[in-house]
Amino acid sequence: MDRRSFLRRAGLVAGGAVVGAGGGLAHEWEHIHYGLAKSGHALGEERPPDLTQTRLIYRVPAASGASAAGAPSPGTPRIALTFDDGPSTAYTARVLDVLAAADVRATFFQVGERVRALPALAREVAARHVVGNHTWDHPDLSLAEAGDARSQLQRTHDEVASVLGQPPTLFRPPFGRFSGATAMIATSMNYPIVLWDTLFDVRQSAEANIEQLAASAQDGTIILGHDGGPLHSDVVIEALPELIAQLKDKGFQFQTIPELLASG
Ligand SMILES: [Zn+2]
Repeated sequence: MDRRSFLRRAGLVAGGAVVGAGGGLAHEWEHIHYGLAKSGHALGEERPPDLTQTRLIYRVPAASGASAAGAPSPGTPRIALTFDDGPSTAYTARVLDVLAAADVRATFFQVGERVRALPALAREVAARHVVGNHTWDHPDLSLAEAGDARSQLQRTHDEVASVLGQPPTLFRPPFGRFSGATAMIATSMNYPIVLWDTLFDVRQSAEANIEQLAASAQDGTIILGHDGGPLHSDVVIEALPELIAQLKDKGFQFQTIPELLASG
C-alpha cells in the first residue's frame, strides 16, 4: 500500500499534521503507560506527553514569516533526504560518500538490530547526519500488540542512545504503517511520526528517478530512500549526485528533518 492509500485507509486527514488519539483507547493506554512506568524510561517527567495530539509529518512547508535560527531566507525552498533500514555494509558508506561530496546532510532512520551489528558505521552516519528510530527489527506495527510495539521503539531508543551517545528524537514506522497504540507510544516518547511525500522507485532507472523527483519536489518535501534492507538501492546511489545538483539549481536548500521542523 502506498502512503496516500494508507492514510486514506487509516482515516487520517491527508492535509493535517495532527491526529487525535481518542478516549476510546484509554484502556490500551493504561496498559502502555504501566509498561513504560515499569521500564523506567521515556515518560519525561518534566514534559508529560500530550496524549491528545500525535504529530504526523510527511511534508513540512514553511510557515509564512518563519524565522527560526538557521532557517533559510523566506522563499528559499527546503527539502530533506531520508534513508531507511541501515546501517548496512551494502549501501551506507556509499550514500555517505555521495552526501559528503555534495556537502548535504540527511536523516537516517536506522534499525536497532543493525545499529547493534554495525555500531562503528552507525557512529559514522551520526557524526554528520541525524539518526532516527526505525524499530528494532522492522515489523509491521499496524499488526503488532501494543507491548511489542513499545518494545520495538524502546529497545531501539536505548540502543541508539548507547551506541551514539544520544537518543533519537524522530520515529518512522516501517512501511509507513502503524496502529493507534503505536501512535500513542511514539507520542509518549516525544517522537513525531515522520513519513515522506515522495520516494525513490528502485524499479525505475536513475534517470527516471531524477526526472520524477526533481519535477515533484515542493517546499518541505521529504524524500524516502534506503541505505539498507532488501531493496536494491544501487539506483538511489546512482541517481543522488545528479538529483542533488538539479535540486540545488532549482534553489532548494537541503535540510535534516529537525532543521525542516524548526523552519516549518
Ligand atoms: Zn524501513
